[in-house]
Amino acid sequence: MKFGKPLRLEKQDVAKESARAAEEGFGFVQLAMRKTLQKLPTHADATNLRKTLEDHDIEAGLHAPFADVHLANPSAAVRKKSIEKIRKCLPFAAAFESKFIIIHVGTGVEKLDSETIRAGLEVGAESVAELAETAGESGLLLCVENKIRPTFSTLEDLLGLGSIRGVSFCLDTGHVFRSHFEGHGKPPGAAVYGAWLRGLGKKLAVCHIHDVKMVGGELKDHFPLGDGIFDYKRFIRQLAETPCEYALLEVEKCREMPDGNQRMVESLGLAKAALDAR
Ligand SMILES: [Zn+2]
Repeated sequence: MKFGKPLRLEKQDVAKESARAAEEGFGFVQLAMRKTLQKLPTHADATNLRKTLEDHDIEAGLHAPFADVHLANPSAAVRKKSIEKIRKCLPFAAAFESKFIIIHVGTGVEKLDSETIRAGLEVGAESVAELAETAGESGLLLCVENKIRPTFSTLEDLLGLGSIRGVSFCLDTGHVFRSHFEGHGKPPGAAVYGAWLRGLGKKLAVCHIHDVKMVGGELKDHFPLGDGIFDYKRFIRQLAETPCEYALLEVEKCREMPDGNQRMVESLGLAKAALDAR
């Protein structure tokens, strides 16, 4: 199992940062973008990145845009646009030999009745099937990530996509935590995570690990490991028993901290220690 560092395409020189991540001991990087970039990296950028990855013996995957992409939206026009936005990222991903492409399948609608949610799951599955086919043609692995709400937030929702050819999954531990907490009023225990890990099985390709914490009466996620209430040590031990290869330390909150990079490296140390303590 490799631990990964999160990078942001819109904010960082990802080739330079990948080399640094390798020196810090990370096994891979995840290049994410919040929204579709005005100007996507060029083929030359991708080639340069691939060479850097090779030279430093580190791998990379891509997290597709999510803030302006709504693959389960009730409007066919919105879904079509969303699919196009992700398709546009695929040549770049293929050129740097991305190990995975992570997508969110959301409606982009704040308040939903149960009928719209049901319809969202159905049309969302159609969007995923279209994207899985295109990704597969480029040799890329499409991974659907569990969201907090309301579509594709449960194991059942994700498993509903299991029959689509070429679809794998990304399990976000913080999203499970927040989703479970909202529904049950208490944190999910090891049994809840165990059910997810067993349920996704061999199709679990990537895991997002980060801490969660109460801030002003609200549960927030993406904190460095050890900062909150998620039992990351126990989860890492559970994950190590599965075939999942990529464990991303998605500690995005570090970006708001003055010693943010140091905190990311500390999270790596804690994750490695948890793995070694098995
Ligand atoms: Zn995530």
